[in-house]
Amino acid sequence: MSQNKTNNLDKLSYVLNEISLTNKFYVATDQVKLQETIAQDQTPVATLVMCCDSRAHTTAFTANPENNFFIVRNIGNQYILNQGSIEFGVINLQTPLLIFLGHTQCGAIKSAMEDYSFQSSALIREIDHLTLSIRVNELQGDTNTRYHQAVQNNINKQVELASKDFHALINQEKLIIVGMLLDLDNTHGNGYGKISLINYMGETDPNILCNIPGINDFFID
Ligand SMILES: [Zn+2]
Repeated sequence: MSQNKTNNLDKLSYVLNEISLTNKFYVATDQVKLQETIAQDQTPVATLVMCCDSRAHTTAFTANPENNFFIVRNIGNQYILNQGSIEFGVINLQTPLLIFLGHTQCGAIKSAMEDYSFQSSALIREIDHLTLSIRVNELQGDTNTRYHQAVQNNINKQVELASKDFHALINQEKLIIVGMLLDLDNTHGNGYGKISLINYMGETDPNILCNIPGINDFFID
């Protein structure tokens, strides 16, 4: 057996063990809740679009993901890449909230800021949309500052794109769209992993966000 295969089998063993232990606990503690309330139907409160990044998970923001979050994930938390899935959450499941959750240290954003022409055609296609979102030519400051601006620009662009398509629901006050940021590297100094709200229905000014009832404790500072 090759060394590669041995290493991969070790990793499979690790993952299966992790799944087994966690799932035993899950079945033991959540079986009643699942059977009695949500086994036959889903009624999530939010459609959540987040990055695939392995460091960004529901463990950062909820102990109760089941039947609360209808989650769509792709690189760079993009609207355009999975419009059908997002529409299913917003239109079919009628979630009153649509959340775009981006994060600092996003590899997809970093790629979009650099030359990515050597990537596969599939990846180029997915990164292309990010170059529109981050508006690389308008970024200012040193590399880190530009990187963080790009992450936030992308979140704001996703809110803008979705707002166009769902404007009828927004006008009927049936849908709220927000952009949020998971600060993996403590860029903003409020703690590693801190989540902040940076966009509410297109509004990004902290001075206004901090005065909106219900979200005023949750904006970025
Ligand atoms: Zn990412």
